[in-house]
Amino acid sequence: MLKLKNISKTYTIGEFSQNALDKVNLEFRQSEFVSVLGPSGGGKTTLLNVIGGLDHADSGDLIINGKSTKSFKDKEWDMYRNNSIGFVFQSHNLISHLSVLQNVEMGLSLSGTNAHEKKERAIEVLDKVGLKDHIHKNPNQLSGGQSQRVAIARALANNPDIILADEPTGSLDTETGTQILDLIKEIAKDKLVIMVTHDSEMAYKYANRVIKIRDGKITDDSNPIKNDLEESGKLNLKKTAMSFTTAFVSSINNIKTKLGRTILTAFAGSIGIIGIGLILSLSNGMQDEIDKFERETLSSYPIAIEPYFIDFLGFMEYSAEQDELETHPDYDYVTPEKDIFDENTKVNIITEDYIEYINRYIDNEGQETLAGFSYNYSMNMSLVSEIDSQYEVIYSESKTPSASPGFGPGSNMIPFHLQPEGLVYEENYNLLDGDEPVNDFENKKIEVLLAINSYNQIPREYLHALGFNLDEIEDDTQIGFSDLIGREIKLFVGDYGSDSNLDDAYTVRISGIIRSIENTNISLFMRNGLVYSSEVESYLMNTYPQEMGGIQSISLYPNDFSGKDDLLSYLDDYNVGKSETNSIYYNDQAALFTSISSGIIDAISIVLIAFASISLVVSSIMISIITYVSVIERTKEIGVLRALGARKKDVSRVFNTENIIIGFSAGLVGIVITLILMIPINIILENMSDISNIAKLRPLHVISLIAISIVLAFVAGLIPARMAAKKDPVIALRTE
Ligand code: ADP
Ligand code: MG
Repeated sequence: MLKLKNISKTYTIGEFSQNALDKVNLEFRQSEFVSVLGPSGGGKTTLLNVIGGLDHADSGDLIINGKSTKSFKDKEWDMYRNNSIGFVFQSHNLISHLSVLQNVEMGLSLSGTNAHEKKERAIEVLDKVGLKDHIHKNPNQLSGGQSQRVAIARALANNPDIILADEPTGSLDTETGTQILDLIKEIAKDKLVIMVTHDSEMAYKYANRVIKIRDGKITDDSNPIKNDLEESGKLNLKKTAMSFTTAFVSSINNIKTKLGRTILTAFAGSIGIIGIGLILSLSNGMQDEIDKFERETLSSYPIAIEPYFIDFLGFMEYSAEQDELETHPDYDYVTPEKDIFDENTKVNIITEDYIEYINRYIDNEGQETLAGFSYNYSMNMSLVSEIDSQYEVIYSESKTPSASPGFGPGSNMIPFHLQPEGLVYEENYNLLDGDEPVNDFENKKIEVLLAINSYNQIPREYLHALGFNLDEIEDDTQIGFSDLIGREIKLFVGDYGSDSNLDDAYTVRISGIIRSIENTNISLFMRNGLVYSSEVESYLMNTYPQEMGGIQSISLYPNDFSGKDDLLSYLDDYNVGKSETNSIYYNDQAALFTSISSGIIDAISIVLIAFASISLVVSSIMISIITYVSVIERTKEIGVLRALGARKKDVSRVFNTENIIIGFSAGLVGIVITLILMIPINIILENMSDISNIAKLRPLHVISLIAISIVLAFVAGLIPARMAAKKDPVIALRTE
C-alpha cells in the first residue's frame, strides 16, 4: 500500500551536502509493525517525515495505494497527513495551552468533524490509552508516560492507516517505554506502524520487520516484500480546514496562559485609542456647545423682513464716526448733521411675489435649514381691557402699517404676538402653569398664553393692562400664577371707537403661562406679553378678509449658521437685478455677534487626532513585535499543527484570530479608560466654564474606535502570521 521508489533527499548547508536519504526503495504492507534501526544521523527521521508527507523528496516517488504523489499540491499533502497519518514524536509535542482533550481533538477539528462526534471520538481513544480520567488536565500536569499516551491518542484520533513513531520511548524509562510499545502494538494491530528506534532489543521484540538504515541507505531488511502486492483500495482524502471556532478556542486558551502579557499589550494598544477617544469626545462636546450657541443666537434674533429695514451696523458705524470727531468744539460755525435715520432705514414693500418667493423656500430648502417661521399679518383690531370699570384699549393694530419705523407699536400697553410655527417655539418654551390654548370661535372665545421673563417678572404696564390696580402693587408684591391664568380681555375686530359695541367682541382668556426654558437664553419675542396661535390668525383672516392688511412682517429662524448662510443667499438672490425701491432688505441682528466658526474646532481636532494616531502606529508596531515573538515561541506548535494536517492558512488563522482578540481588547480597554478619564476632565471643565458634561463620546465613535483597533492589530500581525504559516514544519518540529 505504501511504496518508496528511488527516494533521495539531500540537505545542503553552504558548500557541504548531506545525503539524508540516498535512493531508498521500500515497500510496506497494509498491516505490519516495522522498526527502523540505525545510528544517529542515519536518516531515520527524514525517512519518516517523507513517508508522512511532512517533508518531500528531492527525487524519486512516494506511491500511496498505487497513486503517485509527484503531482501533489500543498492541499493534498495536508489532507494526506490529516487523514492517513498519525505522528508520534519523541518529545510528545503536545500543545501546552490546550487541555488533553483539546489536543486529541485538534486533528479531528481540522478534518471538520462536528463538535459532538469529535468529543466522543477523542474520549474513546483516550479511554483506549487509559487516560479517560485525565481528559481535562493540562499537558504539564501529566507524567512523561501519560504525555506519550496522549500523543498516541492524538495520532489515533482520525483513525489513520499509518502510524509513524519517531523514537516514541526515547524520553521514557525502560518500564514506561515497554508499556508504551505494548500499547502501540495493541492498538495498531491492523495498521501499518513504522517506528524509529535505536534500541535493537526493543526493535526485534516488537516488530515483525526490522529495517536498518545508515548514511541514508537501507542496509538491511528482515522481511522485504518479494513479489508485488496486490494494490488494495483507492486513496481517498478528506479536505482539511480549521474552523474559526477552533482557532478562537485555541487563541483564547493561549491568551489565558500568558494573561499578564496580553493585558499589557491590550493596555499599550489602547493608548492611541484613548487619545483619539478623548479628542473626539471633547470636540463633540465643543461642537454641541457651538451648535447650541448658534441656535440660541439665531433664534433670539431671527432674520426679519419688516416694513422698514433698519441697518444696525450702519448705526454702529455712524456712532463710531461721531466718536472720532471733536466734542464741544470752540469754533463759531456749524456743519450739517447726517440724517442717520434716513440713511440707515429703507422701506420694504412686501409684495405677493415676494411672499410666494419666501413660501417656496419654506416648502423646499427651509424644511432642512429653518427651525421656525412666522408671518405677521396686519389687521384692524384692538384689545380692550376693563380697567377701573372703564374700557381701555391696551393694544391696537391697523391694516395699513404705521407710518413711522421703530421697534414696534410703542403706544401699546402690552404686546400681542403671533407664536412662530416650527420647533423653535416648542424647543425653547415651557408651559409653567395652566393649559395650552383651546379656541372656541363659535362662542367667540379665544385663549392666549402669557410669556414672562426668566426672572418671573412682568412689567407693571402689563399688569395694568390686565386690570390690576397698580396702587396695590409694590416692587415685592407676589402675584400668583392663578391670579393671572383665567384673566379675560376683549378682542375687537375692526376700527374701535367710543361708540363701538363690545358685545360682538371675542373674549380673550389667558390659559397658561410660558417662560423660555432654563438652559436657553432665547426669547422669541423682543418683549414678552400675550401670545396667540396661528390658528387664531388664520381664523381671523378667513372670517374678516375686509379687515385684513397684507403681511406686515416675516420672521425666519435658521437652524444653524450654515442654514442661515443658505437662507441669506436665497434672500439676496431676490434683489438681483431689482431697483432699490423694489428690493427687499432683511434685518439680521445676529450679525452683530461674532460668529464662531466651527471650522476651527474641526481643524484643531484633525491636528490632535493626527498626533494621537502616531501612538496608534506605535502600538501597531508593538503588536507586530509581540506576534513575532509569539510565533518564535510557538514554533513547535506550528510544526505539530502542520503534522496534524493544518494548512498554511490555518496556521496564520491561529495568529490572526489571536490578534483580532487583542485588538478588540485594546479597543475596549481604550474606551473604558476614555470614559473614566472623561469624568475628571468634565469636572475640571465645568469648574472653568460652568458648562457641564462637555466631553461626550458618541456610540458611533465607540464602535469605530473598536473597529479601528481590531483592524490595526490584525494588519500589524499579518506579516508575523504569514511568517508562521510559511515555516517549514520539519524545521519547526526539530527546534527545541
Ligand atoms: P536520524 O533521525 O537518523 O538521526 P535525520 O534524518 O534527522 O537522522 O538526519 C539525517 C541527516 O540529515 C543528518 O546528517 C542531519 O544532520 C541531516 N539533516 C537533517 N535535517 C537537516 C536540515 N534541516 N538541514 C541540514 N541537515 C539536516
Ligand atoms: Mg531522528
